[in-house]
Amino acid sequence: MSTIAVVTGGAGFLGSHLCDKLIEKGFKVICIDNLLTGRIENIEHLFLNENFTFIKHDVTNFIHVPSKVDYVLHFASPASPLDYLQYPIQTLKVGSLGTHKALGLAKEKKAIFLLASTSEIYGDPLVHPQKEDYWGNVNPVGPRGVYDEAKRFAEAMTMAYHRYHGVETRIARIFNTYGPRMRLNDGRALPAFISQALKNEDVTVFGDGSQTRSFCYVSDLIDGIYKLMLSNECEPVNIGNPDEITIEDFAKEVIRLTNSKSKIVYKELPIDDPKIRQPDISKAKEVLNWEPKISREEGLKITIEYFRKMLITD
Ligand code: NAD
Ligand code: UDP
Repeated sequence: MSTIAVVTGGAGFLGSHLCDKLIEKGFKVICIDNLLTGRIENIEHLFLNENFTFIKHDVTNFIHVPSKVDYVLHFASPASPLDYLQYPIQTLKVGSLGTHKALGLAKEKKAIFLLASTSEIYGDPLVHPQKEDYWGNVNPVGPRGVYDEAKRFAEAMTMAYHRYHGVETRIARIFNTYGPRMRLNDGRALPAFISQALKNEDVTVFGDGSQTRSFCYVSDLIDGIYKLMLSNECEPVNIGNPDEITIEDFAKEVIRLTNSKSKIVYKELPIDDPKIRQPDISKAKEVLNWEPKISREEGLKITIEYFRKMLITD
């Protein structure tokens, strides 16, 4: 009998790549998404596959799946700062009520549950690089609080279902990930810089650009998620690429790789924008035998070509 995985948020950037991976590995996949920030184009290549089902549904409401379910992979949530500032209440609801419903489904079906959590758990971190045992520095009432606190609640709820209901759970703390199927205009630095550079427009660096991020290519990330879901690790695991860069240097790198004439312009830094971010992935290396393989330059070249085509067909 086939193994059945439910992917919430499966029409989004990461969720759709996860659906592809699971289909490739022989799973039956039930993708549940309300298309708030996702796109049908991300999954329409799977529509003719008999192992793939799409259900348009808001997972903050009761989730009904008639068949058996072996895995519930909870990826539904706006993820870019622009998206969660545009949908603050939906973000809080999907992180809290949506996680509750997805955990309820896992409990009912005796399925393994995996939460797509985030490095935003660490907020504007006072510890560097970030290890899983760091509790974070989060402003609950700032604009980013709608995302950060929803994910912190989601982690607490996941651990409660594990401890009190015996649900088999996994928590992936995902750091900045990029690659094809990101939306050009989702406001994140990477699609913004690439589309600005490809159009020879000013590249907008927020603040003085000294803040750092560590970017992971999507195939590496999905590989890590897949290994985590098959592992026995119920405590959080960082999944990301530790190769850290300042945002200003990153903007220069994008301009170089696109052979662009763009200039950098400096704009106001958003409130509570984390100053530093780098995953400590020693746990993932030890427990999952996982580490990223794709260098930033390699991943960027693939992503630039994807965005170039998107801009032409726009
Ligand atoms: P995305 O916006 O592309 O995908 C999220 C998907 O969830 C979308 O398809 C959206 O329509 C869907 N969704 C939102 N609310 C829903 C609801 N109530 N019911 C059903 N579907 C709903 O974002 P992404 O980058 O693919 O992120 C996916 C997950 O990974 C999120 O949980 C995010 O917090 C987490 N994450 C992503 C990153 C990253 O760098 N991309 C980093 C850390 C964590
Ligand atoms: N950023 C920027 N210019 C942009 C968009 C973002 O300089 O046009 C900065 C942002 O302020 C942050 C970093 O780039 O310091 C990464 O932002 P992103 O939105 O990609 O993700 P975050 O890691 O902040 O969630």
